[in-house]
This record gives sequence, structure tokens and C-alpha cells, in this order.
Amino acid sequence: MAEARQPVLVSACLLGEACRYDGRHNRDAALERELEARNEHAVPFCPEEHGGLGTPRPAAWLDAGAADVLDGRARVLTEAGTDVTREFRAGAEGALAVCREQRIAKAYLKERSPSCGCAHTHVGGRLVAGSGLTSELLRRNGVAVVGVEGRRE
Ligand code: SF4
Repeated sequence: MAEARQPVLVSACLLGEACRYDGRHNRDAALERELEARNEHAVPFCPEEHGGLGTPRPAAWLDAGAADVLDGRARVLTEAGTDVTREFRAGAEGALAVCREQRIAKAYLKERSPSCGCAHTHVGGRLVAGSGLTSELLRRNGVAVVGVEGRRE
């Protein structure tokens, strides 16, 4: 009998959902083939939509590292200065809840996002080395995060 496919969390925009802040997606056909080859089943999730931010929405960034935001020492702000920390936190916590409910141990997340970035994210409007809020929370709780660039054929 074939082994059951292992569920993995995947940034929804990488699977073609138009949930980016600008209403576009980052569909990554290569990632879909890689998941298939590894017998992994994609569970799509967009932290920012889950947190209650609509699409399209203003661009936002962390005002310090993700660890500082999670620990209550920093915020997430839109380019107009609106505080969206609560929504970003709700999105990160939603991602963790899905991982716990579905016994997910690995997440493929879109690089450079203030939520999903794994190696790079946006702080103070600039691209810097560091985690987004969701990837930081998942990592803290033992979920392996893999950064994906997106838009590969
Ligand atoms: S990078 Fe993450 S938060 Fe941004 S659109 Fe994709 S899934 Fe949503």
C-alpha cells in the first residue's frame, strides 16, 4: 500500500492563490513538482489574510526583528504607519495552530515577506537578513521552515 502523503504548510501565494498584498500570486510550479516527488501534501495558508487583512492591502514591514515583535518589543506597520501588529500575530498564530492540528512539521514559505520570509524579510522598509513573523513563530515551536523564492517554472 502507498505511504500516506505527509502534510506540509505552504504559503498560499506559492500555490497560485492571489493573496499577495498587491492582489497577485507567486505560483511556483517547480515547488509543486518537488512536493509531489517527496510525497508531501500541500496545505495552503496565508497568514496575512488569516489575520484579517484583506487583499489587496497596504504593504507592511516589521519595525525591528521578528523576535522583537513576537516578544512585544516592536510592531508591524504599513507604509502609512498603521499598526497591523495584531493582525500579523493572529496570522502567525493561525499558521501554528494549523501545524499543530494537522501534525505538520515542515513549512515552505515565501521569501522576503514580513510574514513568511525565512532568510530575508522587510524591516523598516528595507530588505534585510532575518525571519518574517510567521516563520519565526513556527521555528520557535519546532516546525522546520524552508524559504522559497517563488515564480519558478
Ligand atoms: S507571502 Fe505569506 S502572507 Fe504574503 S501573500 Fe504569500 S502566504 Fe500570504
